[in-house]
Amino acid sequence: MIAVIKTIRLQTVIFWFLALAAAAAVMLIADGSDIKSIFTSGKKDSPVLVIDAGHGGADGGATSLSGVLESELNLDISQRMAALSGLTGIEFIMTRDSDNIEYPDSANSISKKKKYDQKKRVELINDTRNAILISVHQNCYPHKSPHGPQSFYSRNEGSDSLAVLIQDSMNAALCPGNRRIAMPVANNIYLFKNITCPAVLVECGFISNPKESELLNTEAYRLKIAAVLISAYLRYLDMNE
Ligand SMILES: [Zn+2]
Repeated sequence: MIAVIKTIRLQTVIFWFLALAAAAAVMLIADGSDIKSIFTSGKKDSPVLVIDAGHGGADGGATSLSGVLESELNLDISQRMAALSGLTGIEFIMTRDSDNIEYPDSANSISKKKKYDQKKRVELINDTRNAILISVHQNCYPHKSPHGPQSFYSRNEGSDSLAVLIQDSMNAALCPGNRRIAMPVANNIYLFKNITCPAVLVECGFISNPKESELLNTEAYRLKIAAVLISAYLRYLDMNE
């Protein structure tokens, strides 16, 4: 019974978020406002959502079957998460809000650029009081068949429960029947090794899978992902109040 009630509540939350997401999209298109204009800075003790659009600048990440860079998809979803956060009063910051990243002259190779960027992100995250990180990525595999979104949690306290909430929400709203479960993040990811806050890496889908790649190319699906992630984050805040 409790499980049934939970499912209904989850669907209700997701429904309202989709409605909000649609409103957000209309508002953003209508007034052409810049995402930056709704940036908020953390109040003293309230949690601050750090939205991390994976890759960017010299690091495009993986490339989809239709030739879209992972970094662009990650940024688009992250900007929609930022818009929804602004609308719902969530305190948030972004690790990047464009595809251009400024590098010092000393970063004269792609690997140095990547290193510099990741170090800056770690500094920003660790300097943010009460940070909770959601890092947005897309999955890629040499074969076309794997599909389905998946969340990965850091070792830091509180990460696993957020990852489970995100996974449940994604399975219910984005990919019914998805058997993927929240898993620990690989321990060789620099950013996750060096941050101290609760943190979840989300692989929104496989850009190597034709169906999922096509879905990810649509604004509606990216908006749905953003809404699902923000609704899961709100549920997490609720549970940890
Ligand atoms: Zn990635």
